[in-house]
Amino acid sequence: MQLLETGRRESTYKLATVMALVDICVENTPAPDGSLAVPIDEITHRIVAYYWQQVRPFQQHGPLAQVKRGRSMPDRIAEARNDLIREGLRTAEAARAASHPSYQALVRSLRKTVAQYPLTHLQTVLDTRIRDDFLFDASAFRKKMTVADVNRVAMIVLRPGVPEGLRRTSTLLRAFVRSLWAQDVIALNRAELDAEDLDGFLFGADRVALRALVDPLRDLQGDRCFYCATRMRDDVQIDHVVPWSLVPIDGVANLVAADTRCNLDKSASVPVRMHIRRALDRAHLDDVAAATKMPVLFRRTASAAEGMYGSLPVGSLLWRQVQDYELHTG
Ligand SMILES: [Zn+2]
Repeated sequence: MQLLETGRRESTYKLATVMALVDICVENTPAPDGSLAVPIDEITHRIVAYYWQQVRPFQQHGPLAQVKRGRSMPDRIAEARNDLIREGLRTAEAARAASHPSYQALVRSLRKTVAQYPLTHLQTVLDTRIRDDFLFDASAFRKKMTVADVNRVAMIVLRPGVPEGLRRTSTLLRAFVRSLWAQDVIALNRAELDAEDLDGFLFGADRVALRALVDPLRDLQGDRCFYCATRMRDDVQIDHVVPWSLVPIDGVANLVAADTRCNLDKSASVPVRMHIRRALDRAHLDDVAAATKMPVLFRRTASAAEGMYGSLPVGSLLWRQVQDYELHTG
């Protein structure tokens, strides 16, 4: 919190990096000693996924600045994104899963920036130049690195206990980082931006990309709501079974069609395990993926669910259906 709260940031890169690390820690199991090796490529992918939505024009303001000056990672992402969307690849994950050359070139070009800036400076208390490598040993990271340097270093290793700590505090950290991120965007753009609209814009799910899933998922579910099995009218919503606000995963394995009543009531609640199991057990997920060019992300959804239940205190409420909860027993 001290690293993030103090000083003025030149960009939002550190915040994107923290969000990426939190997601990765929720979705992955640490080594027996409690450490976790995280490839720089993986961090870069996650950062791209966060900015993917944010490079759209915001209301009448147009694209929002995320750095104080110069060409930014979001600028490069915006260019690649236009090409990829034209080819029907609507999300960063879809472009990644398709191994599209433009996407791969984008990640190759950004990973050096990720190494040189956020990974080098993440653990520096701003304005002090004091670096305390308590999250990972950053001695191999410098402000000037060649591509060969980045290839040689290749990953960070989160210290024993750090992955577990980030996982356990993920809900709070995410809310904290989101609010700092929105504040930084307001400061960097020196504009009168509505903070509430901005939060939804920066961090909300991509409703446009998800629209493509309505018909295929309706068919898959025999036109019935995934949660209450009521026949759906035209109020079909695409719901993230593992809530988007806890772990953002736009994979077909994590997406179901639900009526508005269930969707609104579930909101960001953690569902009972049975719903996750049912979502993962659905047949023909690959067909939906092929029809919509959205990836399935089966393993990510399954491991994110495990991470989510693992970080939830016993006695928390799990959502079963409208106004109906059961206690989490661990
Ligand atoms: Zn329903």
